[in-house]
Amino acid sequence: MGIPKTMKALQLTEFKQDKFELNAVPIPSIGDNDLLVKIGAAGFCHTDYQVWEGVYGSKLPQIPSHEPAGIIVSVGAQAKAKGWENGQRVGVMLFKHACRNCVGCETTSDVRFCKNVVIEGLTTDGGMAEYIMAGSR
Ligand SMILES: [Zn+2]
Ligand SMILES: [Zn+2]
Repeated sequence: MGIPKTMKALQLTEFKQDKFELNAVPIPSIGDNDLLVKIGAAGFCHTDYQVWEGVYGSKLPQIPSHEPAGIIVSVGAQAKAKGWENGQRVGVMLFKHACRNCVGCETTSDVRFCKNVVIEGLTTDGGMAEYIMAGSR
């Protein structure tokens, strides 16, 4: 299956305005530990509403939604070694890219406690698009 260079994505371009823009944007790039997921479904929850309100001060434009699910279409080298493969159906966690360097990372292996974690839909692009970069575990 060929992966295109660009995808359609909904973008929040201004807080508290009654609109999202549908734009063509580059397909997310993935690192060695990441997966590229073709999105089948994505939610819009209260947190996404708060993003829209500007509560988290997200950098705009922001692709909303931190709760997508879909099918893996590309796998980084380290992620492949962990058993991830193209064609697997997955739900995507919102927290990704633990720094492995902060107090949270040193005291637990749980990515949620990393002080430098990125959060899709809040601090990095989310699931209201055709593809998303997902971290692997
Ligand atoms: Zn949510
Ligand atoms: Zn950390």
